[in-house]
Amino acid sequence: MALDLTKYIASIPDYPEPGIIFRDISPLMADGEAYREATDQIVQFARDKHVDMIVGPEARGFIVGCPVAYELGVGFAPARKKGKLPRATVKATYDLEYGQSALYLHKDAIKPGQNVLVTDDLLATGGTISATIQLVEELGGIVVGTAFLVELKDLHGSDKLKGYDKLSLMEF
Ligand code: IMP
Repeated sequence: MALDLTKYIASIPDYPEPGIIFRDISPLMADGEAYREATDQIVQFARDKHVDMIVGPEARGFIVGCPVAYELGVGFAPARKKGKLPRATVKATYDLEYGQSALYLHKDAIKPGQNVLVTDDLLATGGTISATIQLVEELGGIVVGTAFLVELKDLHGSDKLKGYDKLSLMEF
């Protein structure tokens, strides 16, 4: 029987601000069986999608996406914050609660027509994943799926993912 992965998510009240419950995936990553189970479930979701590349935003999108890339035998490209990628990039900005942030992808990370799976640890408002999708699509990639360990339903991030296939392993 599959593990109950929710047991491996720590919930921290009032972090990083009063009134916020932070969902911490590090107990899941720290447990080999749980990390493998989560990875296997995403691999199953991606298996028939003819994925050519995986893209995930820093930093926890790497933790989710890289073992899936290894298992599928495809590459992984990191979407990173300002100043981290050394070669020519494309940029996508997104709104934070106060102000804006931006993510970047190397221009040669995706070839036009490649099928891309986008991964992150957690879907909240959907701003981070939307920016990541925008980068992939600007380079001509086709987003064939999005995968998360955790989705925070109250923040309605899935509204921004209409038309994209989505897997969330856990919902809070
Ligand atoms: P969004 O852009 O509002 O969907 O927020 C998702 C991004 O913020 C992801 O990259 C997460 O890593 C991070 N994040 C937001 N809330 C949490 C949380 O409760 N736990 C862990 N990461 C979070």
